[in-house]
Amino acid sequence: MTGHATLLLGTTSSGKLRELRRLIEPLGITCRSLADEPRAVTVEETGATFAENAAIKATGQALACGSWVLAEDSGLCVRALGNAPGVRSARFAGEPADDAANNALLLARLAGIRDRAAHYACHAALARPDGTVMATSQGECHGRIATEACGSGGFGYDPLFIVAEYHRTFGSLSPAVKDLISHRSRAIRAILADVVRHVTALPADGR
Ligand code: IMP
Repeated sequence: MTGHATLLLGTTSSGKLRELRRLIEPLGITCRSLADEPRAVTVEETGATFAENAAIKATGQALACGSWVLAEDSGLCVRALGNAPGVRSARFAGEPADDAANNALLLARLAGIRDRAAHYACHAALARPDGTVMATSQGECHGRIATEACGSGGFGYDPLFIVAEYHRTFGSLSPAVKDLISHRSRAIRAILADVVRHVTALPADGR
C-alpha cells in the first residue's frame, strides 16, 4: 500500500461526483473526475440495462485514459410507467439532459395515477487500465413519487422522490441521510472493498 491512491470516476455529473467523493474519499482515496482527464472520451450508453451501461462506461474510460475507473449507471424506475424512465432517466424529456424538464414530464405522466411507487437503481463497475471489469455492484432505494416538488437538495429527481424510510423527499433530507440509504451509497459501499484492494496497491498516479 502506498498510503496515497487516486481513482478516476467515470462521470461528469456534478451531483453524482459530489456523492461519490463523499463516499470514497474518507478512505484516503483521492477522486478525479473525467473533467480532470484530457484523455476522457464520450462513451455512448448503448446498453439495455444499468449493469451494461456501467460496464460500458468503466471499460471505455479505462481504455481511453489508461487508468483504473469506477463508473456507475443509475436511474429512476416508476412502477406505473413500466419501470420507465429507467436507463433513459437523464434524457427522459429529451436532449440535452434537463432535470427541471424531466421532473415536469414525470409529474405529467403520473397525473391522476394513484400508484406512485418507484425506486432508484445504481450499478457500479470497476475497470482496470486494459478495460477489464474487475468488480461490479448494485444498490436500490425504494419510495414513491410526490405530487409536487419539495426541497432543493440532491439532484435530478430528488425533489420528487419520497424515501420510504423517511416519508420525505431526498430534496428535503440532508446529504448525510442520502449517503446512508441511497441506491448510490449502497452500490458504492458494496464495491468499496474491491476499490481499496486494487487501487491502494497502485502508484499515486492511479495507473
Ligand atoms: P446516467 O448518467 O445515465 O447514469 O443517468 C442518471 C440519471 O438518473 C440522472 O441524470 C438522474 O436523472 C437520475 N438519477 C440517478 N441517480 C439519481 C439520484 O441520486 N437522484 C436523482 N436523480 C438520479
